[in-house]
Order: sequence, then C-alpha cells, then structure tokens
Amino acid sequence: MVSRRGFLGLLGAGVGALAAGRAWGQAAGRPNIVLFMVDDMGWQDTSVPFLRRGGRWVTTRLNARYAGRTPNMERLAARGMRFTEAYACAVCSPSRCSLMSGMNAARHRVTDWTLGVNQGNRLSTSGEGLRSPRWGANGLQPQGTQAQGACQPPWRVDAAGKYCQPDFGSAEGAYAYNLTVPFTNALAFPELLRRAGYHTIHVGKAHWGSGTNVSYKVRATPTSPGADPRAFGFEVNIAGCERGGPANYRGDSQYGNASNADFATPGLDENNYYEDNVFLTDALTDMTLRELRRSCEADPDRPFYLYLAHYAIHSPLDNARAWDHTRSDSTNLAQDARNPNPNDGLAWNETERNYATLIQGMDDSLGKVLDFLDERGLAENTLFVFMADNGGLSVSGRLTNANAPLRAGKGSCYEGGVREPLIVAWPGKVAPDTYSEEPVIIEDFYPTLLEAAGVALPAADALAVTPEGVYADGPVRQVLDGASFLPVATGLRATVRADGAARPLLWHYPNKWGEGPAGMAYNYYSALRLGRWKLIYQHSDRSFELYDLATDLSETRNLAAERPGEVDRLRREMGRLLRERGAQMPLVQASGEAVPWPDDEAVALPAPAPGLTLRN
Ligand code: CA
Repeated sequence: MVSRRGFLGLLGAGVGALAAGRAWGQAAGRPNIVLFMVDDMGWQDTSVPFLRRGGRWVTTRLNARYAGRTPNMERLAARGMRFTEAYACAVCSPSRCSLMSGMNAARHRVTDWTLGVNQGNRLSTSGEGLRSPRWGANGLQPQGTQAQGACQPPWRVDAAGKYCQPDFGSAEGAYAYNLTVPFTNALAFPELLRRAGYHTIHVGKAHWGSGTNVSYKVRATPTSPGADPRAFGFEVNIAGCERGGPANYRGDSQYGNASNADFATPGLDENNYYEDNVFLTDALTDMTLRELRRSCEADPDRPFYLYLAHYAIHSPLDNARAWDHTRSDSTNLAQDARNPNPNDGLAWNETERNYATLIQGMDDSLGKVLDFLDERGLAENTLFVFMADNGGLSVSGRLTNANAPLRAGKGSCYEGGVREPLIVAWPGKVAPDTYSEEPVIIEDFYPTLLEAAGVALPAADALAVTPEGVYADGPVRQVLDGASFLPVATGLRATVRADGAARPLLWHYPNKWGEGPAGMAYNYYSALRLGRWKLIYQHSDRSFELYDLATDLSETRNLAAERPGEVDRLRREMGRLLRERGAQMPLVQASGEAVPWPDDEAVALPAPAPGLTLRN
C-alpha cells in the first residue's frame, strides 16, 4: 500500500543534514511540530486526490472544481504522505476533545458540540422518540478541575477597550465558577510537550471547554477553566476560546465584536486588522507568523508546537466576503462553469463559491506557513500535519452530496461526515509523495505526536480522573484509546498494529444534531469500522446498516439483511467497545430507559428478505 519511492535516498539526505547541525530547534533533539487544522473541511474539498482506484489516483469532479485553488495542499502532499482513510468525529467538539485527550468520544463523553457554561439546550436534545443522556456538555477540562472552583476568563477587555488575556493562574481577578452539568478531565498532550521543553502556541479555534459565548466586552463570566487553551498546556493563545465558529470573517465587522455578536472572535484587535478589513483567515496567519518569528528569535534552540486551528471553513458562508478578493470574479465563474457540481451539472451557487473561497484562503495560509518554515531553514526539522475536524457541510445551502463520492456530510456517521484529508510531512522521516490506506482516527494524534517528539506516553496512573459525582455512574478515567500511526508515516510498517491486524474504529453520538435530513444518520448512532466493513447502529429504531467500503465507498447498498453473520460479529465488537469505554446510550423518551447495547438480546438482527441468499 505504501509507495517507497525515494524513501531510502531521502532518509540518507536527512541524516546528513541533521549531522551537519541546524540553527533552530535542534538543541533538544526534538522536531518542531505543526498541526494545521481546518474546520468543517470535507475529504474532497481540495485539488489533491484522496481517492484511489485500481492502483491509481482518481481526480474526482470535486477535485477538478478545486483545481488551482489549493496549490499549497498539493505542495504539502508532494512532500509527504497522504492518509486516504483518516477519520475524525462528525462534529467539532468531540473531534477536538479526542485530539487533546487521546480518548475516543464514547469514553470522554463530550459527544456533541459544546458552547455555553451549563448550557441546557445542547444537554437535552431530543427527537425520534429519544433524548440525549447527561453527556459532557461542559466539555473537556484540565486535569484536577472540580465542579466548583475559581478561574480566570480567557479574555478580558482592558481600559483601552482591547482584548487581553489575564495572567494565567493568577488569583487576582479570578472568580468562582460552578459547573452543574457534566464535564471530563484530561491531561492534554500539549501540556506534555510543554513539560518536555516545547514552546506551545495555540492559534484560532479551540472549542473544547464551555464558556460565555457572548462578547467578552459585555461580560466575562460565566466561563470554565477549559475555555482557555492555556489550561491545557498552551503557553500562547491567539483568538481561542469556547466558541466553535466565527461570527463574521470580515475585519470591518471586528469579527463580530462590533455588534457584540455571539461567536465573536476575541484577541485580534491589534495590528489594524479591523481598520484594514483583514480577512479572519489572514489575520490568524499573520499572528501565527509573528509568534513563530518571536519564538525562533527569543530561543532558537527551543522546538515549538504550533496548533493553527483555522475558523475557516466553518459557516457563515453567506456573509463571508469572498476571500479571493485578488482574483476577478470572472476567473472564478469561468472555472466554476468548467467544473459544474457533481449533483446537477450546474455551475456553483453563491454559497458554494463562498465556501470555495474559504478553502482558497485556508490554502493561502498554509502556503505562508510553509514559506516561513522553508525560509528559516526549519522545514527539515518540522513534522507538519494537515487535518480537518469533521466532514464538509452538506446542509444549509450546500448540496446533499457535497462530499461526493462520499455520502452525507458534517454531523453524519456516513463517510462524508467523518473522512478527512490527512497529510503528514517530515523531511527525512516521511517519504515524499507517498500514501497509506491504513485507517487512522483523531484520537491517534495524541500518541503519534508525542512519539514524534520523543516524549513518553504518560503512565496510566498519571492520566486524569473526572471527579466522582460529575457523572451519575461514576468518574471518567482518561485512557489512551488512540494508537501511534508514526510507524506507518515513516514507512516502518504498513499498519498501526504491529501484527498487521485491522483495528476497530468507533463513533458514538447519542445526541441529536438537528440539521440533517432524515435517513442520513445525523442523529443517535454508533458506528464501527473494521477492515473493509462498516456497521451503523441507529439508536432510534435499533436497526443496523452494513456497508462494504472496499466495493461501496458511497454506502449505497445496505448488506445487513444478506450478511447477518457479519452484522452479528461487528455488533458484538461494537457492544464490547461501547461498554469498555463507558459509553452513554440515549434514553427512550417514553420509558426513560437507555437504548440497549447493539449486541443486547433485545436487539434483533435484520430479517432477511424473502428469497434472499444469505452470504454468511
Ligand atoms: Ca468542525
């Protein structure tokens, strides 16, 4: 599966370069790490092909539509390895909490997106005869967090009306908080990198712990410790807080702060971004480069971990000034006409064009960061990872097959909701222009990045324990569900497991997303990927869907009725993992009882259709 073209030669060059010494980040013998995270970006929202068929790359119609728009993703892919079967969760916070904690969403229980402290409306979603359990609606909190305590808000407004971050950990100005709905504690990997000597930089969207979600200019409370990325080991926080999207990408809206809008982005009120109407993506990039420059010049021997988590390409898609203001509309329209959408053959609509310009702006940012690393001679000693946190939006003005050939999109456990364009580059370590079809998932990043940094995984008893009583059925203990895929990236072996066996990958969403059309697996589900098979357990009617991803990537043929043996094998594995990870099942509204595990006796296997030939 893994092309080794050029690998040995490159490795030799890398060793030589390392032996010769390098100016930056070398003293500690650790690589710099950049995790470039895009929000809501689909697997096909790029000119870089991620689909292979018959041993070749397939340029899909969506890839063709992005021709010329993502040159820097192409540049990165040429330097490293594409993971064609990389996964996240279907919505933002679960993915980001799995990233930070190494836990699967079933275990960390932040199964839906978070926002306001003790926010009840996300806590008690209901529909389809079900309601959500008391999931971790206050999100991820740093190790040691109790339900009651004192903390600083991540942002304040100073006397001059500018956002500032108060001294982290200072008692001065701290205020009491009281978390009355559940949360989960974690020892996050950036904290371990910081302890190992890394300069840890957070830029952009955090969205893992609850906070105010109204302008910090209006009030600074209530919040929770987890709203502040610095609570998880980041020494620098630029623009991160509890919010999971931008109010407005435009600088002249003050990124929503001019109207004190919900979701307004704090911390970008310097450097004339407001006055010059700098696009949000560009402002974050500019701040990133400033911080990197400062880091390198202050202590050139110190490696850095940069988490650049763009707010792009999250909605709003309507009021986004087209990012590509340097291009003429006619250029884009001509390109749109050449590559009509795969649904109906028509040119892109306005929403799709805005979406595409957000992709372009993101790619431009990627290019600027890559340029910086190249110009400073840092690229050779930098592990660069490109990832997105859930599939592309396929509702709200976007087409239902916006992720073609994948089914559905953000919010759904079909491939369109969870498959991501992961690229890993590390000169001398990861061979250029290679790929892997090994399935990997977002909780794998924790052990992967620590292994790359040469930092040992924490011992089991050093991991976080959520206070007793926060969850009715006992504390949540942090367990690293993820596994390092570094051996795959470096070509050491083709699979994550040393024995070559397929790993079960689990998704669990006992919640209602609420935006998707019926029948597209947007609400109340568990899903399991094992080898070529994918089993979906729909909590609402306790039904199963079985797909063979090797022959049916689009998940159009439900094989559950003709392969009951496969369904039974996979549902037992799903049930085992859900129980082992302490998953919360949704509750039946009428009875208040939990939906049974997928392998419970009360859950029937699908009845074969009359005359159907059973295949196992
Ligand atoms: Ca997202």
